[in-house]
Amino acid sequence: MERSIDELARLVEYHQDRYYNDQPEISDAAFDALWDELQNRAPDHPIFSRVGTDDASGFPKVRHLMPMGSQEKASSPDQLLKWAARVSHRRYIVQYKLDGASLELQYRDGLFERGVTRGDGVVGDDITANVRRMQGVVPRLPNRFTGAVRGEVIMTHEIHRRYYSDKANCRNAANGLMKRKDGEGSEHLTVMCYDAHVDGDTRPFDDELAKLTWLADQGFHTVPYEVFESAEEIVHYRDVVAERRAELEFDIDGLVVKGPEIDWADMQRARPQKQIAFKFSAEEALSVLREVEWSVSGHLYTPVAHIDPVQLAGTTVRRASLVHPELIADMGLRVGSEVIVSKRGDIIPKIERLVRHLPESTEITVPGTCEVCGTDLVNEGKRLYCPNLTCPKRDFHRLQKWISVLDVRDFGDVLLGKLFDAGLVREIADLYALEWEQLAEFEGMGETSARKALGNLTAVRSVPLARFVAGFDIFGIAELKVQKLVDAGFDTLEALRHAAVEDLAAADGIAEVTAQQVATGLAEVYPKMERLLATGAVEIEAPASRDATADADPLAGLTFCFTGALETMKRGDAEQLVRARGGEARSSVSGALSYVVTNDPGSGSSKLRKAAELGVPVISEEEFRRMAGLEE
Ligand SMILES: [Zn+2]
Repeated sequence: MERSIDELARLVEYHQDRYYNDQPEISDAAFDALWDELQNRAPDHPIFSRVGTDDASGFPKVRHLMPMGSQEKASSPDQLLKWAARVSHRRYIVQYKLDGASLELQYRDGLFERGVTRGDGVVGDDITANVRRMQGVVPRLPNRFTGAVRGEVIMTHEIHRRYYSDKANCRNAANGLMKRKDGEGSEHLTVMCYDAHVDGDTRPFDDELAKLTWLADQGFHTVPYEVFESAEEIVHYRDVVAERRAELEFDIDGLVVKGPEIDWADMQRARPQKQIAFKFSAEEALSVLREVEWSVSGHLYTPVAHIDPVQLAGTTVRRASLVHPELIADMGLRVGSEVIVSKRGDIIPKIERLVRHLPESTEITVPGTCEVCGTDLVNEGKRLYCPNLTCPKRDFHRLQKWISVLDVRDFGDVLLGKLFDAGLVREIADLYALEWEQLAEFEGMGETSARKALGNLTAVRSVPLARFVAGFDIFGIAELKVQKLVDAGFDTLEALRHAAVEDLAAADGIAEVTAQQVATGLAEVYPKMERLLATGAVEIEAPASRDATADADPLAGLTFCFTGALETMKRGDAEQLVRARGGEARSSVSGALSYVVTNDPGSGSSKLRKAAELGVPVISEEEFRRMAGLEE
């Protein structure tokens, strides 16, 4: 559902008003996206003819020497290329598009006379007294220059951080300061210049490049420029600039692109055609939450927001993640809430925050029962799930997980769904009892694909323990987590299953809550694991590098922590060696540690101080090598 033009215009007006009253509720990027959308869909909307009018300002009104029309805009490469094809410049001059407030500096006979704000583009506020205090204003120009210099009033990040961090951003702060009656703070603003126009016949510059050089020669702060031969290069350059944008000392919101010739006639248009603002693609936008769908994956119910479509990072976004019920409550979201949606690069779009509730908003309902088995759902805030261990959804998800963790090709969800719905497969063990004829009966399957699917499945016989456990879809337990437990010595299914929660939690990188999930989860799925192993089709790989002889485990029962550089091996290899010899390696010092290993016992490092406090013995690398059986 697309929002209507009227709705959109109301949004623009509302947020424009917040913005001018110095209380913006949405980011500039989100506002720009709204503005652009309205401009694209209703270019003649009356909103566009009353830009930036603030007649309550009380400053005298002055007519511009160079009209400031509204700028042509492109926010996608496609739009820029179309514009370039239309104007066909020989070359392109490309500059940063500063995110500040436009200003015209007027000169007469070489002397700075007036500073005029953008106003409505034709007439602006005379804020000369303030402008005289700003950085980058050249009071006297040579050759009795009469005309105008155009620039942007900006505040640097440094100044913003130091003095105005209470303002939403640099531009807001600059806008407020430049219009103060007492002129206070104007010395914190800088005028950066990019254009000039001579009133008269003798011109100190013939084209745009000479103009920029002239500006810099007079002592104005200028915006750096690049010259490109093709529009494709500009598209690439925008990506480059977008990356270094955060490191610049001032805000920019895109690039300004123009041709090399000075075209005075074009500049006088309400909307000059020969130059364009090529904006960064928006990563945030304002939308309205219209509906919440509860997507079911296994036993988990996850909220997904359906929003009014918005353009973000080059794509149309209609759905955004809401993560879990607690987040909805924390943000205070309702159906009919205006929200900020973000999408950065390849990341899944998400709801960033609530802006406000529209009048007709309603509460978001959290489902109470499982849509599959009817069991009452459990809402733990961070997860909403069906607690029924035999809920079909949960079973099906486990099958999908097994196929995906083992990376079985040509055994997709569609096939799995058919097998499940036909009652042929309920749990993983059932997969290995299938005959190709049963698969071949499904529509569109045939003998070849049926044999291929089963062949791929049975090709995987020996599975590492961590992968085996992860394949059983225990909540919160990915393969890497289990591997940490395996590395810590729980390297058989029996060892894992019988370990006490506190022992599991003592392993490096395992939180108490994870340890609990492993213990409960394993207890739940163990019968299924047994049935799978009983088929003989799959076996768990024997633990690596653990010999049967007692001598091969010289470090059994010992825990080590390494600190400082080792001479004969890398720390990771040393830790590997400890595990291979039956011991455990830890990254931090605790009372349970057997030894701290270091070559620099006098370094005074925090680990060594802690070892001394706790009475943990400190040994050298050489002593460690001897213990591990590497040296006599
Ligand atoms: Zn259920």
